Amino acid sequence: MNRRKRIGPPSSHSQRKRRTGSGAIEPIPAGFAEQLPLSHTDEQAALLQALHAPAPTSIRLNPGKPFRIAADPIPWCPNGRYLAQRPAFTFDPLLHAGAYYVQEASSMLLEQAVRASGLIDRDVLALDLCAAPGGKSTHLLSLLTPGSLLVANEVHPDRRAVLAENCWKHGAPNVMIAGARAEDLMPLAAAFDLILLDAPCSGEGLFRKDHFARAQWSPDLVQHCAATQQVLVQAAWHALSPGGVLVYSTCTWEAMENEVQAAALIALGAERIELPLQPAWGVERSTLHGALGYRCYPHRVRGEGFFITVLRKPGSLPDRTPTIRTAEPLRLPWLKEELEFTAMDQRGTMHAMPARWHRTAERLRGPLRIVAPGLPSAEPKGAGWRPHPAMALSQALDRSALKEVPLTDDAALRYLRGEALPDTAAEGDALATIHGLGLGWLHGARTRWNNRWPAAWRIRAHASDAAAVPWSKQ
Ligand code: SAM
Repeated sequence: MNRRKRIGPPSSHSQRKRRTGSGAIEPIPAGFAEQLPLSHTDEQAALLQALHAPAPTSIRLNPGKPFRIAADPIPWCPNGRYLAQRPAFTFDPLLHAGAYYVQEASSMLLEQAVRASGLIDRDVLALDLCAAPGGKSTHLLSLLTPGSLLVANEVHPDRRAVLAENCWKHGAPNVMIAGARAEDLMPLAAAFDLILLDAPCSGEGLFRKDHFARAQWSPDLVQHCAATQQVLVQAAWHALSPGGVLVYSTCTWEAMENEVQAAALIALGAERIELPLQPAWGVERSTLHGALGYRCYPHRVRGEGFFITVLRKPGSLPDRTPTIRTAEPLRLPWLKEELEFTAMDQRGTMHAMPARWHRTAERLRGPLRIVAPGLPSAEPKGAGWRPHPAMALSQALDRSALKEVPLTDDAALRYLRGEALPDTAAEGDALATIHGLGLGWLHGARTRWNNRWPAAWRIRAHASDAAAVPWSKQ
């Protein structure tokens, strides 16, 4: 599931460094802390010390797939939890079932940003422009109303596949997966009410846990990232509707990549939105360059480095009252009827689109290079259809008429490795479940259940020395 976040493009310098690496730990890049806007040198020392300390481990629970867990809450995110140690997440079936997402705590400040936007209680059309691997898209899906539609966009194909996997495991059916470049947004002027731009950046905030971030950092990389961000920010602003809100974030501390980017939009009339943060959280309020941003430093906040700012475009939001249905309702025996979906075909796979967004989705399809125009719900099988693997994990799954096969943790791990499961009563099709959550499809072959877990999602790692998750045997 949520694979490691790659950041800005590596400089030729860093590529050379990595090629010649001897396996030694990359040092923190010399001189990087001196130019940060920290109040005094003691703070720089405290930051450098924190960057050599272990990173906290945290997860964000999926409110649509509740399970019991005793762990410290993350104060700014009600579904966030700190764990005492980093367990072997890969071997926890609940991770694969989408019950939680492994995410560092500072980036969960997104919750405060969306709440402050004033868009939390209304149905909105939202875009996550740089979305893979999906940490913030899945968070948005948990925050937005079920009547909203999220377009989760990622330009790189491999990362887009992971994004789709994570969104489908989360299970909310109101998401489209897109593969646009920022330039593709030009035909979509004023299209979205809420845009999240979690920009590719120089990644200083990840120095303590990501050696690749240390290895690739250079002043040139900062310049390069700032130039890319400028293009992305302008594209996002263009695609934002009047009265809409842009949430801009990075995992770096460079003002050029943060407040300077926000200042360019403030010069165009953007309104700065204040976040209601508690002083005890340790988040620094920054007004550099006339912007209003929030900085997380690991010597002050229990999390990694992060920056976030929230800006409103002048004007009033468009009316998003549901449009008249333009397509026939989609009816499938395994799809909850009351959710009112229409069908959208994508390369032979039938996707379920919330009916009220059908016309909008058609309009977005071309420019956004949509690869999944809704929840993949049915794929062809012989002369008929069978449920897509994403359906087994979806909150839109109607389980009332399905045969279910509850799996133990051990059987679930064998299933997730792609193995068939012996059973002398294996007949027909069935839903494999884990702790009551839908996981994947089984096809009976009399003596065993054949496995329909997608090959690309299989566990390939071997057992690790890390502790098991503390909740899996409950
Ligand atoms: N929001 C993600 C999350 O929370 O899981 C992390 C996003 S990561 C910081 C930035 C993403 O932007 C990367 O996946 C990268 O592939 C993508 N990206 C890089 N250049 C881009 C561009 N020019 N246009 C759109 N996306 C880009």
